[in-house]
Amino acid sequence: TDRLDITAIRLQFPILSRMVKGRPLIYLDNAATTQKPQAVIDAISQYYCGYNANIHRGIHTLAEEATAAYEDSRTALQEFIGAASADEIIFTRGTTEGINLVAYTWGRANIIAGDEIIISEMEHHSNIVPWQILCKEKGAELKVIPVMDNGELSMPAYLDLLTTRTKLVAVTQVSNALGTVNPVKEIIRAAHRAGALVLIDGAQSAVHLDINVQDMDCDFFAFSGHKLYGPTGIGVLYGKKELLNHMPVFHGGGEMIKEVTFAYTTYNELPYKYEAGTPNIADAIALKSAIDFIKKHGRNQIRQHEAALLSYATEQLEAIPGLTIIGNAKEKASVISFIIKGLHPQDIGILLDNQGIAVRTGHHCTQPLMKRFGIPGTVRASFAVYNTTEEIDALVAGLRKAIKMLS
Ligand code: PMP
Repeated sequence: TDRLDITAIRLQFPILSRMVKGRPLIYLDNAATTQKPQAVIDAISQYYCGYNANIHRGIHTLAEEATAAYEDSRTALQEFIGAASADEIIFTRGTTEGINLVAYTWGRANIIAGDEIIISEMEHHSNIVPWQILCKEKGAELKVIPVMDNGELSMPAYLDLLTTRTKLVAVTQVSNALGTVNPVKEIIRAAHRAGALVLIDGAQSAVHLDINVQDMDCDFFAFSGHKLYGPTGIGVLYGKKELLNHMPVFHGGGEMIKEVTFAYTTYNELPYKYEAGTPNIADAIALKSAIDFIKKHGRNQIRQHEAALLSYATEQLEAIPGLTIIGNAKEKASVISFIIKGLHPQDIGILLDNQGIAVRTGHHCTQPLMKRFGIPGTVRASFAVYNTTEEIDALVAGLRKAIKMLS
């Protein structure tokens, strides 16, 4: 059923041929960041070797080429997430900056004392802390949708939390710690009925799911390039045009202005209004190569391959005595988190690393979620298009070895 040529795909990722501790690298930390195909690496080097220039204001050839490539990438990203207009694609440093942008601009202009913001118990710290800061500053209340034992959000509890004072619901589409895929369409519909806006944290979902922001009808959608085979330091904030147009500016500086005098400043149009200063041109351009890589292999085919890996890994891991998978949602992306009775996640991680296997251990920037499950952290394996069932076999063998050594 595997229609992708994984061997050929692996050859596109130079890092996958390196050794770690004398063993071939087995990279299962894709939810933290994915590896980069040669095309993405080449796009960065081609920019610096061939047409490095500052964008938008230059009239010389290099500036024109760089501007065209940067704006082409914006258009590719617009298509990638199904936005109505390229003006709705704001380049950011990543998900964290996108969420902070909304908290500092829309949030400061619209949240007043007594208002309510709803997040969930499974949020990454970057979708908790900015709202906490905002609520504290404004005297607003932060409410939290509880996570059930199976790692799904309690939808009845969510509906109960919505009130006429709810101004914003900010939730992740996919949990980085558990892999849970949340029913965002349902969440958004209910929020809109209550008169609230919705921000979706797409850090984990953009690489695994088909994203169409218009169909989803979210008001904001934030994601990071480095989690979808692109470079670090570049990401996107999508916002509905009428919202972005009316929000106050974020950073002040060059590019985001129309006219500056000492008495007043008028601001540029979208999307430049939110892109002050020289942006991360090289990585924005290379992000298009990452999108092209995903499109070339097909999102659905990648999804199928990852789903097969997830179900195989779940089956194999469940057979290990003392191992408990945390999060058994009906719908999961290719993230699998687990604990092993009597062993510390970090010790397991170190022993796996000795065998060349990279997993993540710890709280995964979701401390409240770990607290909810009464655990300090988990071992997390997360899969990408280039992973194989052989690598999962190696993980399982590595775990059995670690258990033997540690107990
Ligand atoms: N939200 C989720 C669900 C994440 O997994 C991450 C990255 N681990 C972030 C937000 C933050 O993304 P970034 O560090 O790229 O800004």
